[in-house]
Amino acid sequence: MKIIVFAENQDGNFKKSTFEAISYAAQIAANNNGNVTAVSIGNVSAEKLAELGKYGADHIVSYAQEVFHSFSGEAYSKAISHAAKSLNANLIIVSNTYSGKTIAPRTAAQLSAGIVSGVISFPDMQNGFKVRRTVFSGKAYADVNVNTSIKVLAITPNSFAILDQPKTAAIEIMDAGIGSENVHTKSTEIARTSGKVVLTEAELVISAGRGMKGPENWHMIENLADILGAATACSKPVSDMHWRPHSEHVGQTGITIKPNLYIAIGISGAIQHLAGVSSSKVIVAINKDPEAPFFKAADYGIVGDAFEILPLITEAAKAFKSQQA
Ligand SMILES: Cc1cc2nc3c(=O)[nH]c(=O)nc-3n(C[C@H](O)[C@H](O)[C@H](O)COP(=O)(O)OP(=O)(O)OC[C@H]3O[C@@H](n4cnc5c(N)ncnc54)[C@H](O)[C@@H]3O)c2cc1C
Repeated sequence: MKIIVFAENQDGNFKKSTFEAISYAAQIAANNNGNVTAVSIGNVSAEKLAELGKYGADHIVSYAQEVFHSFSGEAYSKAISHAAKSLNANLIIVSNTYSGKTIAPRTAAQLSAGIVSGVISFPDMQNGFKVRRTVFSGKAYADVNVNTSIKVLAITPNSFAILDQPKTAAIEIMDAGIGSENVHTKSTEIARTSGKVVLTEAELVISAGRGMKGPENWHMIENLADILGAATACSKPVSDMHWRPHSEHVGQTGITIKPNLYIAIGISGAIQHLAGVSSSKVIVAINKDPEAPFFKAADYGIVGDAFEILPLITEAAKAFKSQQA
């Protein structure tokens, strides 16, 4: 089995989700006499490229021509299709990040491949090729059979472990023969989220809702997030009222996240909010209303006023961190 993995980078540094995807691919390859090629697109140093071998890539391909210096779903999917054709790949794996979501369907169309997104399992190849994905905003699972000879899987970030499986992977520079004349869409501006920890990759998320009363109180959320090394998130009304940027809005109409710990403060737990966070491994809800729906979805709940509880948790987190230091 020949597997290729899209190795996504941000400013020349590979993302955590890339290491997850390579680790995932390497485990499939190990059980199926396969090999893994990591495909890097954009401007990445040789030293960084070599890092990909650590997680099980047998071979690294780099498309670094100028046309790839800014993100374009169109150009990037063409490069991946080029790599897949050149290497006769039969399985293409991307992480279901924003870029992955743009690239995976285009690549599948270009290769006439079957595609499954939101994948949360290893493929079952006993009898065909079956993978599990989440459906209905994470409320249910579907087991999907893929019958095409080439398959594209977009795996859910934070679902698979990063494993050290070191290989000495050769690096190959490839040219897909694509120039700017072949690319019809172009990113004109990239607005970076302001948080220190990237929300979609965060293992800890501190999230708050309308119960925080106003943007002037968000320093309490940011302070706790800083101490814990967490990302910050919010409910939809909070971003609609411009208390927080839209990039922090989680839920059905916002971002879907899957951290190890999600702490929801002053958020009611409406179904549309839960749709984006219910796959979190552990959920803690803090709400002054004991009947708040979030308590039904939470693993732990604290009934009380956020303005009294937050300082206590912040002090406890500070003490815990200083013991660890
Ligand atoms: C089509 C559609 C899509 C939607 N998509 C999303 C989405 O993607 N994400 C999303 O979040 N919402 C979404 N919504 C909105 C959703 O239905 C809820 O209205 C929203 O999630 C409520 O936000 P909230 O919990 O911050 O505010 P509220 O519903 O006002 O709840 C505030 C909570 O804070 C508690 N509280 C108040 N004061 C305190 C205090 N001092 N201490 C502790 N707790 C306190 C209250 O008891 C209450 O439970 C969508 C709605 C629709 C119709």
